[in-house]
Amino acid sequence: MILRPRRKLPTLGVSDLDKVDDRSDASSCSSEDSVTTCSPIITTTPSPNLFDPSQLSHEQAQDSNIRSIISQLNHNVPCDSTLSSSFIMKNGILHKLIALTPKSKLRLSVPYLPSSMVRSLLTAIHDDPFQGGHFSVDKMLSKIRPRYWWSHMKQDVQRHVQACVPCQQYNYSRQKKPGHLQPIPPVATPFSIIGMDFCGPFVESPRENKYALVVTDLFTHFVTAIPLPTNTAEITALTLFRHAFCRFGVCFTLITDQGTHFNNNLMRALQHLLGYNHILSTPYHPQTNGVVERFNASMVVQVSKLQQNHHNNWDDYLDAVVFAYNSSKHRTTQYSPFELLFGRSPKLPIDSPPRYFHFDRPNTYFVHLQKILQVYHQHAKFNIVNQQSYHKRYYDQNRPDPHYNVGDRVFTRIFAARGKLDPRYSAEPKIIVQTNHPTYIVKHEPSGFEYRYHVSDLRPATLAYVDNDSI
Ligand SMILES: [Zn+2]
Repeated sequence: MILRPRRKLPTLGVSDLDKVDDRSDASSCSSEDSVTTCSPIITTTPSPNLFDPSQLSHEQAQDSNIRSIISQLNHNVPCDSTLSSSFIMKNGILHKLIALTPKSKLRLSVPYLPSSMVRSLLTAIHDDPFQGGHFSVDKMLSKIRPRYWWSHMKQDVQRHVQACVPCQQYNYSRQKKPGHLQPIPPVATPFSIIGMDFCGPFVESPRENKYALVVTDLFTHFVTAIPLPTNTAEITALTLFRHAFCRFGVCFTLITDQGTHFNNNLMRALQHLLGYNHILSTPYHPQTNGVVERFNASMVVQVSKLQQNHHNNWDDYLDAVVFAYNSSKHRTTQYSPFELLFGRSPKLPIDSPPRYFHFDRPNTYFVHLQKILQVYHQHAKFNIVNQQSYHKRYYDQNRPDPHYNVGDRVFTRIFAARGKLDPRYSAEPKIIVQTNHPTYIVKHEPSGFEYRYHVSDLRPATLAYVDNDSI
């Protein structure tokens, strides 16, 4: 804890300060000497406590609302029958009579705080480490209500907390992360939209592999995983070409994260050469590439189970694990990826061998396959849409989905590894310069740098109010 230094107000006399301290810091040390004995940690940081209760009488005299009430009380003006039962004069200061609880018959008299002193009181009761500690609206009200009164107290307290920069930067939100789900509508053609991601690094295998490049078709969920020694741009582009495009044809859209192995000139050259769209999902928001991410998560577990005794030969099992996945029914489509791609179930070792073989002529088989795949794909598309809307309903429930406009100011989430005491959001607000909900381009004005953020990683910045606002 850091205690604020005493005697920080040059405009006040010693006797005034002692009065302030006796009242506000009653439980603490009440003189300069005792501060040194109570707290070994004294900093020279200027205290935000500039509230001076000795100025009450003087400031009340300057406040037109208060002057009007005092005048009516003094002259017994019968303009408001509740006036005399609501206010009293005490030691030359106008007090408001308040009930601390709605049912309480006891009334407490607290000074009517002139508007000129509201800002300094709020700053003292919120920003001062000793009196406030940046606690919530309710905690502030519980301290202010038994001591002072003014109209619109709650709104003013709320506005002060909303505009507090450290609170916006550090506070943990109990709300769900903002941003509704934006499912990708299914295109009922295999390998139209594919996702790609790296899994690893794993322990280096005897074949010197450390990574698996995973390519997933977003319609059938058919997975191809290729073990690789590195994850350089060159290897990535070559593997995508050989193992995905040369086997399944060029896709319409490729979705990856923004890793340097995907976001580079070589990948851009391949994209222009072959003619497909490349979508880079928003950093730290891999949901865009969710199918691949989910497969990667389950694959790591499966490979780990199989390589229990020989931790470095994971690539021996990779094809088997991928086949097991591709031949299993997928919860979303209700078909196995293998069935959706090939129009038949794979024969497994547990299947009995056939007693006879029936050979269709190629043309007959082709017509039959076409019919089967058409039915499979229609059903799968229907199931995907159903699952997506079910997921979306569940995900979006009670979740905020703020939309920002160009020019809005926002704090941006800090992703770097951080301790519990580090801020969660940027120290300075950034300005929105481009909107494509749920993705936004924000600009850090001093440096001119622009960044891309998902809506869930933005927090609206409430700018500090100025004194001539309603307070
Ligand atoms: Zn605060």
